[in-house]
Amino acid sequence: MEPSDMGSDLESVLLTEQQIHDRLAELAAEIERDYAGREVLFVGVLKGALMVMADLSRAMTHSVETDWMAVSSYGSGTKSSGVVRILKDLDRDISGRDVLIVEDIVDSGLTLSWLMANLASRGPASVEVCTLLRKPDAMKVDLKLRYIGFDIPNEFVVGYGLDYAERYRNLRVVGTLAPHVYAT
Ligand code: 5GP
Ligand code: MG
Ligand code: MG
Repeated sequence: MEPSDMGSDLESVLLTEQQIHDRLAELAAEIERDYAGREVLFVGVLKGALMVMADLSRAMTHSVETDWMAVSSYGSGTKSSGVVRILKDLDRDISGRDVLIVEDIVDSGLTLSWLMANLASRGPASVEVCTLLRKPDAMKVDLKLRYIGFDIPNEFVVGYGLDYAERYRNLRVVGTLAPHVYAT
């Protein structure tokens, strides 16, 4: 069930809770297959990846190590610039480690492209990406995204970790907001 104000703020539901969980279970199985015998470190990118990290990591059948980064991208308005500042760095050294970046959404891909280069410079064994959502815009940057949950239309979405002014992260679905939300 959704808290009542969130339901009426939605214009459409793009992905249901069930669709998200089913897809994350598939991705977890793929990840386990691909990393069989290796210990992968999940690196979640705050704050959007909160829910993906929670459900993807719990869909794994063995324990995984997790860590978090928080980055902020300088940009004009809603477009990120690719100039990134680290707000919270990893707690661990990743040299020699297999790193899997866990993301909520890749839009322009500029932030992630910076992050991948930054982590790669620390000497890990590998750096791959698992993102729940990808927008067509992401194709503008040449990024290797190993695990992708869903390709979605070029619309602003909220829910399942994704916010509008820090709200709606707790929505269980991914959807678009009704126009009246932006008007207030
Ligand atoms: P990029 O550098 O890929 O353009 O920006 C990615 C970041 O922009 C995401 O981590 C997310 O914070 C934000 N973002 C991009 N598209 C959306 C969207 O549709 N909804 C929300 N809530 N955030 C988005
Ligand atoms: Mg993100
Ligand atoms: Mg946001």
